[in-house]
Amino acid sequence: MSRIGFIGLGMMGQPMAHLLHAAGHPLVVRDVNAEATRRFVAGHAGALAASDAASFSDCDIVLTMLPDSDIVDAVLAELAPHLKAGASVIEMSSADPSRTRALAARLAEHDVSLIDAPVSGGVKKAVAGTLAIMVGGDPAVHERLKPVLEVMGKQITHVGPVGSGHALKALNNYVSAAALIATAEAIHAGAAFGIDPATIVDVINASTGKNNTTENKAHQFMLNGAFNSGFSLALQAKDVGIAASLGPALGVPMTLAQKVSDLTTLASGKLGPAADHTELYSFAALSLIHI
Ligand code: NAD
Repeated sequence: MSRIGFIGLGMMGQPMAHLLHAAGHPLVVRDVNAEATRRFVAGHAGALAASDAASFSDCDIVLTMLPDSDIVDAVLAELAPHLKAGASVIEMSSADPSRTRALAARLAEHDVSLIDAPVSGGVKKAVAGTLAIMVGGDPAVHERLKPVLEVMGKQITHVGPVGSGHALKALNNYVSAAALIATAEAIHAGAAFGIDPATIVDVINASTGKNNTTENKAHQFMLNGAFNSGFSLALQAKDVGIAASLGPALGVPMTLAQKVSDLTTLASGKLGPAADHTELYSFAALSLIHI
């Protein structure tokens, strides 16, 4: 069993690391939140808490599940001189694809390979080990690491060279955010017309407007005011921003992506770092779209 260094024990990382431990992988874990690390080690026999970067020197694989490229770059810059030649990084955060390419090149100087393998499916599928995983990188490295990915995911697709997974993940989250905003607007407009919000969602689910928000978020997290899906608005805004930046960089018109990026960024600033992305349903957030 490969020895895995797992960095980032947040909403997603904790259940993913739990599954790797259950599959028998020896783990070295790290989170800047000392309590998250302590709790994980206390609940997983044999798992070690990293004390410093050298703690990862015996790892065959280092897996990162961190907020963004700034943090991923900083963490791996610290680790790179300590990793053993031939080790691999599986970068599973949702990050900026151009920065991932540059990171892979820097790691290659240490004889360390990197695949980007971001995930979709949220906390529920992370717990169940049924995430969709989109992989960018050398196909041979992907094949070698696939058994590790299979512990955490169900539909695992190699989508292109390094950075491609991160590009596709950002694009997916743009589509998802656009559908969420469209759904929220439609529910509020229908309700103002006098139609029951629950009926609106149920009828859309039987009709052509059906989408992931109407099926898995509207009743579950929005109409009931729970707003606790486990995916923050700040992280969603980051992802949509990455997607929107691809348009100009690639010469592809993405006007709607820019609008969705502006809205999610404004709403995240207004609602604060603790806000769940389903809070975009609130009038306060939606009203920003008219600015
Ligand atoms: P989170 O904020 O819950 O977890 C991130 C963890 O990283 C936290 O525990 C934090 O303490 C830790 N961390 C931050 N800086 C660190 C550092 N320098 N060193 C070590 N640990 C550090 O976020 P999350 O929801 O688990 O998301 C993680 C990644 O997965 C993000 O890129 C996100 O966009 C993506 N993602 C999230 C979801 C979701 O539903 N939550 C779904 C798919 C993808």
